[in-house]
Amino acid sequence: MATHLQSFSTLKGTYIPTTFPIASAEEVEQTVQAAADASIPFSKKTFIERAAFLEAIAEEIMELGDVLLATTHEETALPIARLTGERGRTCTQLKLYANLLRNGSWCDAVIDTAMPNRQPLPRADLRRMLQPIGPVLVFGASNFPYAYSTAGGDTASALAAGCPVIVKAHESHLGTSELVAKAVLRAAEKTGMPNGVFASLVGTGVVLGQQLAADERMQAIGFTGSYKAGMALYSTATQKRKTPIPVYAEMSSINPVILLPEVMAQSAAAIATALAGSISLGVGQFCTSPGLLFALNDQATQSFATELATALANVSPATMLNPQICNTYYADKKALAHTNNVKIILEGSDLSELFQATPALMQTTAVHFMANPSLQKEIFGPCSLLVVCKNLDELKAAISTMEGQLTGSVFGTTEELIAYQYLIDGLQQKVGRLIFNNVPTGVEVCNAIVHGGPFPATTDARTTSVGPEAIRRFARPVCYQDCPQALLPLYLRNHNEAGIVRLVNGIQTMDDVE
Ligand code: NAP
Repeated sequence: MATHLQSFSTLKGTYIPTTFPIASAEEVEQTVQAAADASIPFSKKTFIERAAFLEAIAEEIMELGDVLLATTHEETALPIARLTGERGRTCTQLKLYANLLRNGSWCDAVIDTAMPNRQPLPRADLRRMLQPIGPVLVFGASNFPYAYSTAGGDTASALAAGCPVIVKAHESHLGTSELVAKAVLRAAEKTGMPNGVFASLVGTGVVLGQQLAADERMQAIGFTGSYKAGMALYSTATQKRKTPIPVYAEMSSINPVILLPEVMAQSAAAIATALAGSISLGVGQFCTSPGLLFALNDQATQSFATELATALANVSPATMLNPQICNTYYADKKALAHTNNVKIILEGSDLSELFQATPALMQTTAVHFMANPSLQKEIFGPCSLLVVCKNLDELKAAISTMEGQLTGSVFGTTEELIAYQYLIDGLQQKVGRLIFNNVPTGVEVCNAIVHGGPFPATTDARTTSVGPEAIRRFARPVCYQDCPQALLPLYLRNHNEAGIVRLVNGIQTMDDVE
């Protein structure tokens, strides 16, 4: 049995020499117990103290400087410029949660004061707020080595909520994970966080990942990756444990794009250029990559297909994240090309020996799309399927057979967007983010963002994994009845020391309770 893991560099075509020991049973036990032990002391830290911790993590990550960027570049083949941007985004996320904590109102403090004289029965004093759910298990994503990995959105939102975090490091970027994990631990020490508040463990998903998911001390899971692994974790967390726990898994999305006829007649070439950029962005290794395009069977669509294929053919082949992702891309692309009633518009040459992907475009009809669920399988890489529809009714029917998605885009003139609102209503049923006249790649980190969607895009459509709302995934409401002031959490006491907005007897206020 393997005792160490190594990351493979698709840039160099070899394993990177540094080896990372697989966590022993003893180390796993100690880590989980330390996280469980940290739960109460960490939950008692004030929001301001937690905010300082998150800000310190961002500082420590920036302190890692070029060493971090170079390590990740070698491990993932992602260009330095992209990694620099992603590092900035990761620090922005950490600071966003720090700001949320400093503001304090996220905890939904509600106070209903006692009514001792109420008839026929008196009312008790009832106070409620969100409290941390407990230790959270995070699976980093291969395609976002910073923003969705060791100190990424799941970790940042769980720590902000007051939950200790254990990360299962992704095998694709073990060196990156180690550097970032050490940065988090330094930040924890500098800001006086309890031991066990954070840990990163090395091991395989099927052994370590499953063991951690099954451990009764873990209270929630954050995951980004494949449908297969996400569902394996979901099954363990909800069916194989004595106590089921929430799983926030972001899995598979092909991000449909609807191309309405008027806008296609006016701007097919410009839309093709924009979509070629989006399909090939990051070598198609984005969860928001547009893998499905719906258009009517007309002249504009024909010239659009030619323009898009030409633009994609002009994209230089680029190196993928790891050999498995590359091999899966070519296998899935081949399977699609050989599917009955699928026409190849652009297949691209096979550069899998160099771990490089070439973009592809295939075409089918709405009738065949609706009849064959395999055409909805996510192909992780720069490949898209154009679904040609006889008319808008058929387009609507095709949308209604679609699985849940992270995003849905509609290109149309203002007039046709209004005229065909029923198509957009149908699309809204399926997606977490509706986009008008733009491509789906690019996820803004801001208050209004939703990065989530109906199954199988995620396992819980009620949440987002990006933006301040993500903190709620790792918190639960607790109500205190007739609790003495001294025992109440700071945020529910009569004196509003933290100065947060609270709902007191049905009125939003920052005032003290009389
Ligand atoms: P993955 O294979 O799902 O792996 C993600 C994490 O889950 C890894 O840490 C992995 O550990 C672990 N894991 C795998 N099988 C598991 C199991 N049965 N139980 C518990 N944990 C398990 O994803 P990936 O390596 O990032 O990429 C593979 C494929 O996932 C891609 O080709 C793509 O299709 C999809 N993907 C989708 C998105 C998206 O956002 N939609 C993002 C990334 C990837 P090991 O490394 O030890 O297996």
